[in-house]
Amino acid sequence: MQKVLFGLTIESSNEAIMNTTFDKAHEARYFSLATLPAEGELPGSRFLDFMRCKDDGLIYFGVGTGKPCNEDLEKHPVVTLNGSFVGEDTGYAEHRMLIAFRITGRIKRCDNPRAEEEYWLRNPGSRKMWEKSMESFAIYCLFRGEGELYQVYKNDRIYRLRFGFGGEAPRPFHYQIAEKECIGCGACKEACTAGIIELIDGKARIPYQHCYECGVCLKACPNGAVKKASRPA
Ligand code: SF4
Ligand code: SF4
Repeated sequence: MQKVLFGLTIESSNEAIMNTTFDKAHEARYFSLATLPAEGELPGSRFLDFMRCKDDGLIYFGVGTGKPCNEDLEKHPVVTLNGSFVGEDTGYAEHRMLIAFRITGRIKRCDNPRAEEEYWLRNPGSRKMWEKSMESFAIYCLFRGEGELYQVYKNDRIYRLRFGFGGEAPRPFHYQIAEKECIGCGACKEACTAGIIELIDGKARIPYQHCYECGVCLKACPNGAVKKASRPA
């Protein structure tokens, strides 16, 4: 029987959450890559083939250098990957078997020959396709960033765990309670869409692994004790 989020919990280490997410991304293989546009304002998204390199443990992907996607990557070397896969049966009827992940970070051209070799071994069809013009294909490495692994239950409750890699910290949850300003009135607990806020010793507390980041608690607080965290730069 498979456990929720492969047995990961809030007690799991950053390394364990990252390793599971990267390994699952490697298995899922084809998923979406979002970029900022080189021209215009509309964001781009397309399906690509990803791998986790056995040598350095990082995520790699490749793209033809003449493609609009590559223009985006050259101008803004930042990406978000989003994928999902069917989890195994958890044995709990309320759990959806769909598990999803997000990885956001900075990319650079691959400078690891072992990763390049592994990429072509995994993609013999692309190797053949590009062999007449290898300089027209670029392999990129996602070297620094943060991400999240999550599972949504049938009752729409969410279980999410975050991690950082390459020296970056996990993304902070968007709504935070400033303990000093909390007067323990319980208005946020009453309003919380997920029904998760706890009052402990007269102070509100959010179990973030189940938070929707909806902001209803911020609107409900009469004392301004719920604050918005800054978005990653
Ligand atoms: S952000 Fe939404 S789900 Fe999270 S604690 Fe506040 S009200 Fe609840
Ligand atoms: S509504 Fe604001 S002051 Fe009241 S318990 Fe929640 S965080 Fe604290």
